[in-house]
Amino acid sequence: DSASYFMKSIKKSDKLQDVCYDIRGPVLTEARRLEDEGAKVLKLNIGNPAPFGFDAPDDILKDVIHNLPTAQGYGDAKGIYSARVAVMQYYQQKGIQNIDIDDVYIGNGVSELIVMAMQALLNSGDEVLIPSPDYPLWTGAVSLSSGTPVHYVCDEQSGWFPDIDDIKAKITTNTRAIVLINPNNPTGAVYSKELLLEIIELARQHDLIIFSDEIYDKILYDEAKHISTASLADDVFLVTLSGLSKNYRVAGFRVGWMMISGDKARGRDYIAGLDMLASMRLSANVPCQHAIQTALGGYQSIDDLVKADGRLRLQRDIAWRMLDQTPGLSVVKPKGAMYCFAKVDAKAFGIKDDEQMVLDLLRQEKVLLVHGNAFNLKQGCYFRVVFLPHAEELQSAMKKIQHFFSHYRQS
Ligand code: PLP
Repeated sequence: DSASYFMKSIKKSDKLQDVCYDIRGPVLTEARRLEDEGAKVLKLNIGNPAPFGFDAPDDILKDVIHNLPTAQGYGDAKGIYSARVAVMQYYQQKGIQNIDIDDVYIGNGVSELIVMAMQALLNSGDEVLIPSPDYPLWTGAVSLSSGTPVHYVCDEQSGWFPDIDDIKAKITTNTRAIVLINPNNPTGAVYSKELLLEIIELARQHDLIIFSDEIYDKILYDEAKHISTASLADDVFLVTLSGLSKNYRVAGFRVGWMMISGDKARGRDYIAGLDMLASMRLSANVPCQHAIQTALGGYQSIDDLVKADGRLRLQRDIAWRMLDQTPGLSVVKPKGAMYCFAKVDAKAFGIKDDEQMVLDLLRQEKVLLVHGNAFNLKQGCYFRVVFLPHAEELQSAMKKIQHFFSHYRQS
């Protein structure tokens, strides 16, 4: 009508201009449309264990329910005491020194804390080194906070380890921090002590903060060992992040934490900023924080899932083998996390656009994946598969992917 004709359209803010989060982007919209039409879409796009029958440990659920009546009010802005003690002790056991309860922040998932950590740190022009491929929230959070994401190469030829020379070449006087994701999403790489020491040395030389996202630190295969970056340095300002979403299969609880360590005196002003942002959102979800102490201190049922005959390990083997054996595809065997990151021979299939490839696969086979570009990977053609479904369903999904690539041509 005439009134709405003259009204200005409502635009998103300028600060969202460069923010990109493709994991839940256009391909997902198409999946929803197909479902609305009655199709059954197998979603291998998001690392959300619960819908695939990975139930949370019973003790965790009991503890949350038990504490519900006393968890009605706001909690401490940085988190409830028992949870922060448990996080601190967990990292002390992992060899991190000189930490106390005040160094721990509990958040509504690691996601909230990533955004908070970037908002508190960055000014326009500040650069943050982020892996490529990455977990794209890191890139999005830096852009949202008016910083500049600078992507460093993780090298497929060396098991997706960060390329130290590339990192060195990209450090400038504006570089404030470097992000590590270890174990890695999407590649499944688990970093060696030698590599971590090299990165710490760069941080030392160039005064960089290290953000170490360790949310998959217990999801390890083939005897891979996880080393917390912070356990290797107490003279660098370090922020370690993790949570309950993956290791304890309660992504819906929205519980994560972040811990400051190392040269904390240097970060006093930044820490005041973090404290202020934590206070501005009053507190994280209180009932679910009660799960933290039980989770970290209790029986680690994740170990049963990742051991040689464990469910997750067997599924990793199925997905990796079937994808790697598909003509035109190759996959570095993941050592951790819950994803296979497959390289596609773009030339062989005439692929120019990896998002189109994933869209075509969705339409033809009703399997939903995420394309490599969504992880801020600018070269090559890749897709990520989540290997959470039970063996039988996973096998049938892999067969569908094989079938798709047996005849696909993008022209
Ligand atoms: N970091 C990484 C590397 C992730 O893969 C994810 C989720 O997939 C997150 C952080 C966010 O986890 P949450 O917000 O559930 O704690």
